[in-house]
Amino acid sequence: MSLIEGVFRLIEEQAKVENFRRVITVRLDVGELSHAEPDALRFCFEAAVGGTSAKGAALEIVHVPGLALCMRCDRQVALRRLIDGCPDCGGHRLQVVEGAELRLKELEVE
Ligand SMILES: [Zn+2]
Repeated sequence: MSLIEGVFRLIEEQAKVENFRRVITVRLDVGELSHAEPDALRFCFEAAVGGTSAKGAALEIVHVPGLALCMRCDRQVALRRLIDGCPDCGGHRLQVVEGAELRLKELEVE
């Protein structure tokens, strides 16, 4: 299942519960460390949205910066890619704190 399919499934579930007529905006949290390319997400969204309850909705991508705890420096560091390691010590003993998510943040409906 692709990431975007999971998002559409959530939308379908909410459509049943909240009984809205249409979705105006789909807001997604996309973490820098999530391996999700915003352009690719947008493309998949546009390709699939027509067959869902979110037909005609706009996609808004909210960028979530990467943040990890470096075990060596014992502090949190900003991170663009996990593979780069800690920007201070170059170490790879990193625990992701934020930015690994691809999450449905909000649906604007009517
Ligand atoms: Zn470090």
